[in-house]
Amino acid sequence: MARKILKYPDPILCQRAEPICEITPEIRQLAEEMAETMYEKRGVGLAAPQVGECCRLIAVDVSGPDERTDLMFLVNPEIVSREGQVDDEEGCLSVANFRSKVRRSEKVVVKATDLDGKPVEIPADGILAICLQHEIDHLDGVLFIDHVSRLKRAMYDNKVKKWLKARKAEG
Ligand code: ZN
Repeated sequence: MARKILKYPDPILCQRAEPICEITPEIRQLAEEMAETMYEKRGVGLAAPQVGECCRLIAVDVSGPDERTDLMFLVNPEIVSREGQVDDEEGCLSVANFRSKVRRSEKVVVKATDLDGKPVEIPADGILAICLQHEIDHLDGVLFIDHVSRLKRAMYDNKVKKWLKARKAEG
């Protein structure tokens, strides 16, 4: 079943997620639901906190959006090395109506375990490297809007305030 995606400024999105000590059936179930949610929303990555679960699990598939062949679940992912710099436009399923260029490392190596508890090491560049950095940020309570200029952020925060007010007024 696809899950509801939390939207900024939900406070859960700003929390640091807990490490996963054991891959239980519940974690596998969560992973499946995250993939379903990501595909339904045509995203390339999703982190557990985005569906309200504060644990260190991400789903990534940058092959899409029409063909989906590279689905990956990473448990307790960690960036162990970085190289270079790149500015690319990002968006986020948890950040409505906003896209912006963000500076990221061009290449990263990520260590994690898969859903069988097997250690994996992923050297990544291009969109996969950006996506992994974006999703791992989510596990630390960091959103891509935390990386944009103060001015852009303030303008976006103002818009969000207006939307929330309008929603309240509608009841
Ligand atoms: Zn995101």
